[in-house]
Amino acid sequence: MGPTSGLTIAPRGHGHSLEGQAQAHQGVVINMESLGKSQEMRFHINGNMKTPYVDVSAGELWINILHESLSHGYAPKSWTDYLHLTVGGTLSNAGISGQAFRHGPQINNVHQLQVVTGLGQFGIITRAHISLEPAPKMVKWMKVLYMDFTTFTKDQEQLISSNSSFDYVEGFVLINQTGHLNNWRSSFKNKDPALASRVVSNGKPIFCLEIAKYYKQEDIDTIDQVML
Ligand SMILES: Cc1cc2nc3c(=O)[nH]c(=O)nc-3n(C[C@H](O)[C@H](O)[C@H](O)COP(=O)(O)OP(=O)(O)OC[C@H]3O[C@@H](n4cnc5c(N)ncnc54)[C@H](O)[C@@H]3O)c2cc1C
Repeated sequence: MGPTSGLTIAPRGHGHSLEGQAQAHQGVVINMESLGKSQEMRFHINGNMKTPYVDVSAGELWINILHESLSHGYAPKSWTDYLHLTVGGTLSNAGISGQAFRHGPQINNVHQLQVVTGLGQFGIITRAHISLEPAPKMVKWMKVLYMDFTTFTKDQEQLISSNSSFDYVEGFVLINQTGHLNNWRSSFKNKDPALASRVVSNGKPIFCLEIAKYYKQEDIDTIDQVML
């Protein structure tokens, strides 16, 4: 129809972007998830491959890639916090979470993208080769709360710059407006809510570092010391 038609096109992944980016006013929206449903994941993990990967449709949900990869003993290296998002939806805007300080965002962990281009103006990702690593067997997860922003950022910087650091480091600001502050205690287990209840925000933001360390079964007796 040509550029003067004004027709717009938007690929839609899982439709979770917040500003209508996956919509096209009076245009065409392409449902990328239908690709995910019709195309299989292809794993390339045989032998001693240095760079194992899975070849997936851009409409595939990350949660499905996780389950399928785990059944092979592997997992992608870099994630988002929430996994009901599509490959195309997150790769088109990086995909960032607590592993990014070590591996880079999701887009840094892609060997190859298949992209359909149009008039040099846009591209629609149709498939991606996602880098894999052997899935960790055990993980120790910890949340640390801060009232002081400077101490929080200093600790975070130290953790991400230290060589023998953790496998996952992510910082959060817990603000009352979102309701997070009212329910964050629910993520503490057993005896911890009592400790958590000592933290009183008085309406001020609380800062939280979420940290994880992968370990092997044989290190189960020493992992707590490593975390401390
Ligand atoms: C609860 C929640 C938690 C989140 N947590 C994180 C997080 O931890 N880290 C993070 O980085 N992000 C996070 N996000 C944001 C999320 O990564 C983006 O909103 C992402 O774009 C949503 O993916 P989607 O599959 O729903 O994409 P959509 O919303 O459907 O699309 C997003 C954009 O990508 C384009 N697009 C979709 N598919 C393709 C394709 N195949 N080719 C080219 N362009 C395409 C769309 O046109 C649109 O512009 C979170 C979102 C939610 C709702």
